[in-house]
Amino acid sequence: MGAQKHDDSLEKIAANVRGCPLCKLSRSRKNAVPGEGQLSAKIMFIGEAPGRSEDEKGRPFVGAAGRILDELLKKAGIERSQVFITNIVKCRPPNNRVPKEDELTACRPYLDRQIALIKPKVICILGRTAYSALLGGSSITANRGKIVERAGQKYFLTFHPAAVIYNKDLLSALEADLKKLAVEINKKEESEVSLEDYL
Ligand code: URA
Ligand code: SF4
Repeated sequence: MGAQKHDDSLEKIAANVRGCPLCKLSRSRKNAVPGEGQLSAKIMFIGEAPGRSEDEKGRPFVGAAGRILDELLKKAGIERSQVFITNIVKCRPPNNRVPKEDELTACRPYLDRQIALIKPKVICILGRTAYSALLGGSSITANRGKIVERAGQKYFLTFHPAAVIYNKDLLSALEADLKKLAVEINKKEESEVSLEDYL
């Protein structure tokens, strides 16, 4: 994680992202998608990359996956104002292919700056691409629904909302995970209990 420059801001990062030429996705995007939410957000949701709707609107999770996320956040009692939503890569890959290594590398400093500013209590990783990029993990099924700590940052891992669209079992699992995340966030606010209590 890069050191935070003291004059950095979410607005600055967003402006940098919107004009970013650093990888080839800049040539096919309509709109870059920096992410959305408050500086004071306690949870950062990190997905894979913008899809078609996001590319059209320049906003994260506003298509089918976004509708699922919104509904499950609501069910979990997590307010939009408590979260910052973004992706590991800020521009849409053609035909929604998985972002390539050079794109992940070029884009990563934007995410690191966002994390450094927001200092979220928990980073909620949505799906395999973000899991692999952030923690080097691969099996969501084996590790979902747990808090893990790396270098002083807490992470929570769950399925990508797009993966649950046609699978009711995964949908209930994502719903249960987000409810669990809501409980964790509220618990830790009252008493800063050690992470070990939850492992
Ligand atoms: N899928 C993602 O990973 N991110 C979005 O913003 C939308 C769909
Ligand atoms: Fe820049 Fe990231 Fe967009 Fe590539 S994906 S052009 S690195 S903002």
